[in-house]
Amino acid sequence: MHVTAIYPGTFDPMTVGHTDVAERASRMFDEVVIGVAASKRKNPFFSLEERVSLATEITAPLGNVSVQPFEGLLMRFAKSIDCRVVIRGLRAISDFDYEVQIAGVNRHLEPSVETVFIAASQDYTFLSSSIVREIARHEGDYSSFVHPVVVDAFQRKYAELGEFGE
Ligand code: ADP
Repeated sequence: MHVTAIYPGTFDPMTVGHTDVAERASRMFDEVVIGVAASKRKNPFFSLEERVSLATEITAPLGNVSVQPFEGLLMRFAKSIDCRVVIRGLRAISDFDYEVQIAGVNRHLEPSVETVFIAASQDYTFLSSSIVREIARHEGDYSSFVHPVVVDAFQRKYAELGEFGE
């Protein structure tokens, strides 16, 4: 049985914590689709196209991983690409309540799709996209938290926005 798993998120931007989860998922499943959510409500810093392009470049070495954007209900998208498993990363107990709630709703919407949680590596439990954005905004060094293409993307973006976009 060929099992495709989807790893959904906003990936604004993808961090080494995300890559670690994607890498481990790629060893567990035949195929992993990184589903980049439009997440318009969150008003992401990077555009959907930028987030997809970064995730694609970063995960290119992982042969069975691909990246696709989606809008709307995750379960509808998962079904449309014949995906049986949703991967979510768990960092700390603070992620737990929310993630279990979402998993319950998703099971209600689509009972045939299972949610699988992958525990974050010890080194990345504190890491989030919002922390990276915050360090970048204040010109701190976040280079060990992201792939070099993300550092380039921040620099380009801030150059476009002018003097730190403020
Ligand atoms: P969302 O907007 O859906 O929370 P994110 O892009 O913030 O999307 O995160 C996507 C998934 O990756 C979530 O399951 C989140 O818990 C997980 N994740 C985020 N950062 C890390 C990390 N440092 N280690 C492991 N998992 C992580």
